[in-house]
Amino acid sequence: MKKLSEVCSICGLPKELCICGTIAKEEAKIKVFVEKRRFGKKVTVVEGIEDKANPKQLTKKLKTKLACGGTFKNNKIELRGDHIRKMKQLLINAGFPEEKIEVE
Ligand SMILES: [Zn+2]
Repeated sequence: MKKLSEVCSICGLPKELCICGTIAKEEAKIKVFVEKRRFGKKVTVVEGIEDKANPKQLTKKLKTKLACGGTFKNNKIELRGDHIRKMKQLLINAGFPEEKIEVE
């Protein structure tokens, strides 16, 4: 017998039936911009991804795709380096609607 699947804490449905993440992605209002840090280092910031859309997992994915370091903190994804030109497509690939992604 299959093991009982994990249940979503938001809607109570098994994780494979849950669409909370999808809804959160569709409702997201994402802002992407590059910030200059100390010593002229650049950081690409992705703002506006809710917990339901699993920003931590997305951070991991983006780090792998861009082969850079990064963190998720204060509700922002921060990636080392300037990745602004690639970011929109990567977010679209991750399931976010193009029209909700604002790139500065
Ligand atoms: Zn759910």
